[in-house]
Amino acid sequence: MTSMTERQKEVAELIKPGTELSHWRDWKWQLRQSIKDISTFERLLGVKLKKDQRTMLEKTTERFPISITPYYASLIDIEDLENDPIFKQAFPSPLELQYERNDMSDPLHEEKDSPVPWLTHRYPDRVLLHVSNLCSMYCRHCTRKRKVGDSDKAISSREIEQALDYIRKTHRVRDVLLSGGDPLMLSDEYLDWLLGKLMAIEHVEVVRIGSRMPAVLPYRITENLVSVLKKHHPLWLNTHFNHPVELTRSACQALERLADGGIPLGNQSVLLAGVNDCPRIMKSLVHKLVANRVRPYYLYQCDLSEGLGHFRTPIGKGIEIIESLIGHTSGFAVPTYVIDAPGGGGKIPVMPNYLISWSTNKVILRNYEGVITSYKEPDSYEAVFCDRNCEKCNLQLRLEGAEEYKAIGIEKLLVDYDETIALTPEDNERIERRN
Ligand SMILES: *Cc1c(COP(=O)(O)O)cnc(C)c1O
Repeated sequence: MTSMTERQKEVAELIKPGTELSHWRDWKWQLRQSIKDISTFERLLGVKLKKDQRTMLEKTTERFPISITPYYASLIDIEDLENDPIFKQAFPSPLELQYERNDMSDPLHEEKDSPVPWLTHRYPDRVLLHVSNLCSMYCRHCTRKRKVGDSDKAISSREIEQALDYIRKTHRVRDVLLSGGDPLMLSDEYLDWLLGKLMAIEHVEVVRIGSRMPAVLPYRITENLVSVLKKHHPLWLNTHFNHPVELTRSACQALERLADGGIPLGNQSVLLAGVNDCPRIMKSLVHKLVANRVRPYYLYQCDLSEGLGHFRTPIGKGIEIIESLIGHTSGFAVPTYVIDAPGGGGKIPVMPNYLISWSTNKVILRNYEGVITSYKEPDSYEAVFCDRNCEKCNLQLRLEGAEEYKAIGIEKLLVDYDETIALTPEDNERIERRN
């Protein structure tokens, strides 16, 4: 066990004189001592806000409340508040009240795609279950900002049974994502019960947890928690680091515990103006992640949720970052850059273009160095006609009891066994004229 840093000691003293290391490292103590108002913040950071600044901030926190763990607060560089990535992710800004024209309260239509309360079913084979609406730290860039602080509306036992029933009767669901809020706000006992229930469902092959705890409250990753989680493999965990300074010694110890528990770890970052919109910062972040056995999974374009305008970057910034990673560093250190489609279309990957041109038998590509190359395609490839009748096929694909689903979307245009030649939007005027 490492001791506290000097700054942690200072913060601990300011919160409660005489705080001991064992308290500081107790996640429940951290939650009880979370900073929920501007005055406490001022005191800990040694700043005094001007009266009009204060009024603006108070108005902001009435709409979007504040909560920050002492641990996360201790990472703030008090010498350079304005530019500090931790400060910007945790401390409110009056800019949050400046809604932009395209801002939406629920841009991802999570509530429309919800067959039962707390569950979003968007993709064919996986569902998102909001098991907790609490977080240890309220990220200022939260996509579910509309819900932050609604603590009185916790999921009831009847509702969780309803969600479990939905998963039980929906045989296509093979992957369940626990999200929130932060699922690790739940007790070890409750998680044990819930994971047990999910894993007992025959068609559920994997469960994933999405949690920011390793970054904002690493002391939550106790030995007991890990011993509970590892009872329920295959369990995956995605965490949320946005900046290399978040990978402190304590955070790395939490990641080590999880990885040693055999839990595959991924990271989902959000591209945030003034926090990590820089190729060098992102490269340093992904390197630190893989050194701690965390695979960078997604880099999200900031959503169109209300109050996030000041965090948004152009898409070009994300593409520039991916351009600076692919080829320049290990392939497994490169996340997929995605835009979560407004209206509920799901995540759409965006990439720099590597395909430059194409003829009937050649493809022209470029690499990360700018080398332009050609790939000669086979002249004699015999296309296998597929009518999805595996009995007659000579490829060895005999999936026992495989269920067949019809092709949807672009795949429908590519397959041989479907006659569709075009996808046309429902309200196409030209088609309407034909009728
Ligand atoms: C992100 C998300 C998922 C999981 O998507 P993956 O690409 O499989 O990680 C599932 N459901 C919803 C509603 C999501 O937003």
